[in-house]
Amino acid sequence: MVTNITWHHNLTKEERDTLNGQKGATLWLTGLSASGKSTIACGLERLLLNKGVHSYRLDGDNIRFGLNKDLGFSEKDRAENIRRISEVSKLFADASSISITSFISPYKADRELARKLHEESNLPFVEIHVDVPLSVAEERDPKGLYKKAREGLIKNFTGIDDPYEAPEKPEIYLNTSEFSINECVEAIYEYLVEHKLLSI
Ligand code: ADP
Repeated sequence: MVTNITWHHNLTKEERDTLNGQKGATLWLTGLSASGKSTIACGLERLLLNKGVHSYRLDGDNIRFGLNKDLGFSEKDRAENIRRISEVSKLFADASSISITSFISPYKADRELARKLHEESNLPFVEIHVDVPLSVAEERDPKGLYKKAREGLIKNFTGIDDPYEAPEKPEIYLNTSEFSINECVEAIYEYLVEHKLLSI
């Protein structure tokens, strides 16, 4: 489908990172609705910005208001949703920013595509499984979505009538029924420091 277009190069990645004073990376949060992805992403974005690290959050609901407002929740639309997010987060990482994505992203194949897109371009991809027992997620139910799904008012709801394929080897595993919001944010920050993702 793509014809007569060429990718334009200007700065090398190293030059861009040096001039920006930091490297880019994508931190890919995945987990059930209400597992805590958005809450942790917000805390982490705030922490990184306070430390002078440029960072930006791509959040499931927010992206569906704009870029992906034409997409629903069928398997095909969910895959396209994740493909677009993957491409956008890759651009942020290439622009030396830390992009934090928070999407349920329930299917392994879609997350693998996101990883592959980054790895092909030598951009760090950190998969973070934000885990919680379904019963705890249902108890939290901050947006009342589980209740609606149980009543049959929402179809294809992950964990209820749609599967969640848990990552087998995420770079970071967080159980939010055992660790506090701050502990989860700190664990991610420590990983970034340890793996030298915050320095040039
Ligand atoms: P998601 O983005 O995964 O759908 P949200 O972050 O919107 O989830 O909601 C998670 C809810 O769980 C919030 O109300 C949050 O305050 C609560 N919560 C309780 N403990 C934790 C924790 N350790 N980490 C993240 N969220 C937690």
